[in-house]
Amino acid sequence: MDNKNMKLETKMIHAGVSPDPTTGAIMTPIYQTSTYVQDGPGQHKGYAYSRTHNPTRTALQDSLAAIENGNHGLCFGSGLAAADAVIKLLQPGDEVIVSNDLYGGTYRIMKNVFGPYGIKFHFVSMQDAANISNYVNENTRMIWIETPTNPLLSIIDIAACSEIAKKNNLILVCDNTFASPYLQNPIDFGADIVLHSATKYLGGHSDVVLGALVVNSSELKDRLAAIQNSCGAVPGPHDCWLVLRGIKTLHLRMQRHCENGAAIAAYLGTHPKVAKVLWTGLETHPNHDIAKKQMRGFGGMVSFALKSGSEADALDIISKTKLFALAESLGGVESLIGHPATMTHAAIPREERIKNGLDDSLIRLSVGVEAAEDLIEDLKVAIG
Ligand SMILES: *Cc1c(COP(=O)(O)O)cnc(C)c1O
Repeated sequence: MDNKNMKLETKMIHAGVSPDPTTGAIMTPIYQTSTYVQDGPGQHKGYAYSRTHNPTRTALQDSLAAIENGNHGLCFGSGLAAADAVIKLLQPGDEVIVSNDLYGGTYRIMKNVFGPYGIKFHFVSMQDAANISNYVNENTRMIWIETPTNPLLSIIDIAACSEIAKKNNLILVCDNTFASPYLQNPIDFGADIVLHSATKYLGGHSDVVLGALVVNSSELKDRLAAIQNSCGAVPGPHDCWLVLRGIKTLHLRMQRHCENGAAIAAYLGTHPKVAKVLWTGLETHPNHDIAKKQMRGFGGMVSFALKSGSEADALDIISKTKLFALAESLGGVESLIGHPATMTHAAIPREERIKNGLDDSLIRLSVGVEAAEDLIEDLKVAIG
């Protein structure tokens, strides 16, 4: 069966992988090799050196392309290495319009690494996509979005961004890490490049760091593959294998992440000490309509703020949970809790942080796949 005709759940199990031709092994082997014996100079079976191609990586790249409804996948040593490759499509003097509610590491590579190379990044609000047009000029080359965002879980309208990108001949990049391909396929809404930190939901078990890009255009694929091979930020075969294994249960895990996210958002919504709950599935979410249009479910990322507004109260709660482990990262089977103001977003000045809606008492949950009742009980005890 052609990949394109399979349902998403079937693609997660089968796309890109086929039994090993020499042994019949049903699981893609970990081709732990740097080089490949050639019949004569330049006469090889498609594999000459593992920075350029490795069969385990090929299987993962094909699987990712299929589950993101794209034609080509490219894997990197981390999500940020994938971002690095995308930015290297640009030249000094080029400009990028970026959503202002952004993963901190992406902000850092843009501002600290590529800013000094002469690439200009405009960090702007995209709650209303029309705002993007205000920043387009003759040097603009790219629009870069993340949806849902971290930790405020805002939603950006991918199709509206794509319309602006197409009108102005810009590349639209969408970081799909938070939704995962199970909940959202940005290419269907006009994104040109989909970026993943496979470290999160795709890997799903907090045991691997890996990044990926998926594109439709073969021209973009060729340029990105040249960067991947020239700069060399590729993942090893064992890490590729771990993500291949993670993808096989992505749909099962995401279903439970969504159910648990809903249960916890509902519980927190009734708690007398909680001022607001941020979860894209709530009818009260400011962009719930757009979320419904572009997402198939709402996931396990839930943030909430306290009525007291107190940082000390938030720190007290995150120190008291037992099932929710205090840690950075997200998207694993186990639940995590964090305080963005002092952890992931500590680098942002307080005034700017609060202006963007990230207040001192905001707590972020990556809701795992445990029993919802146990997770709610853990929060009940910790919040008091
Ligand atoms: C974690 C993350 C990244 C960076 O990925 P790494 O694999 O940690 O390099 C990029 N974007 C988002 C939204 C992330 O959550």
